[in-house]
Amino acid sequence: MDTAQKCYMCERQATSREHVPPLCLFPEMKDTKGINFRKDLITVPSCDLHNSKKSDDDEFLMLSFSGLIKNNPVGSFHQLTKANRALRRKNKDFLEKEILRNHKYGKIQTTDGKFRIISLGNPNVKRLSSCLKHIAYGLFYHEFKERFDGEIRMILEFIEYSDDYFQTLKKFLKRKCELENELNLDLKGSNPEVFYYQFHKPDEFGLIGLKMVFYGTAEAYFSFMGKDSKEPFNLGLKLMADGFNTVIELGEDKFEFNKKTPANNV
Ligand SMILES: [Zn+2]
Repeated sequence: MDTAQKCYMCERQATSREHVPPLCLFPEMKDTKGINFRKDLITVPSCDLHNSKKSDDDEFLMLSFSGLIKNNPVGSFHQLTKANRALRRKNKDFLEKEILRNHKYGKIQTTDGKFRIISLGNPNVKRLSSCLKHIAYGLFYHEFKERFDGEIRMILEFIEYSDDYFQTLKKFLKRKCELENELNLDLKGSNPEVFYYQFHKPDEFGLIGLKMVFYGTAEAYFSFMGKDSKEPFNLGLKLMADGFNTVIELGEDKFEFNKKTPANNV
């Protein structure tokens, strides 16, 4: 391999290549009876540190994503095959300890009137965010052929945040992406049933947006704040972040942040 290349995450020399997203998210041919969901997978150069330590994280990510109930059939299928095999190799309390805290089973009624058993609990958002940040770095490297140097922020659409502010920010970012999509940005990813993504052009502050979609429905939004980008947010977003009640209009929708409730008005 090209020894001059540096790692996608740090300044060290690359010693191998790393899949972004991790290979284990993509179903194997032995499970899919010949359908290939591993076409043209993306790899980036990686140092020992940023490759070897990640295999646990890769599996964690696969188990977290394949278990989401809104997933498309490819995601559900992956849960029933590879994810279940991985879980059977673990201790009984692995799901509770590592993937979903306060885990319990629940029942939902599907559109065909049948009941389906689902897992409920609190996802490990901190670890999920860390895994997704690595993917964001990897995709940035792949897209722009250089390591991203700066700060990455993210919102995970499939998480129900307990904080009202994050819930509103989530809806706001989703709508913002939808409006920008009308500009016909490229969707990238050769196996869109498993994963696709979309980079947005830098905005007026130099921030670059990225949307990732796993198994058709699980969306994550990222914002890359490069070293050269300006103080990132406009006044409205600044007020929001400081806790002021702020209404932002986007298209025909209004998003109210830090809504006053009788309780916190006192
Ligand atoms: Zn590295």
